Amino acid sequence: TYIVTENCIACKYTDCVEVCPVDCFYEGENFLVIHPDECIDCGVCEPECPADAIRPDTEPDMAKWVEFNRKYAERW
Ligand code: SF4
Repeated sequence: TYIVTENCIACKYTDCVEVCPVDCFYEGENFLVIHPDECIDCGVCEPECPADAIRPDTEPDMAKWVEFNRKYAERW
C-alpha cells in the first residue's frame, strides 16, 4: 500500500487524489491520507505528488505512518 507522509502537510496540490482509480484519498484541512486497506498499490499517485510525500509502506519505519493514515481515513 502507499501512504501519505509528513511532506504533505500544507501542500495545496491534489493531483494525487485526481489520479487514484479507487478514490481512497481522504482530505483534512491541512493534509491528505490514504486508506491503507482501500489502496490497491497501483502506484500512479506517487509521481504526481510535487512534495514527494507519498511513499510505499515497504520503506523503513513506515508503521507509524500506516496507522496515522488509517486513523484519519476512518475519521474523515
Ligand atoms: Fe490510489 Fe493507486 Fe495511490 Fe493507492 S497507489 S492511493 S490505489 S493511486
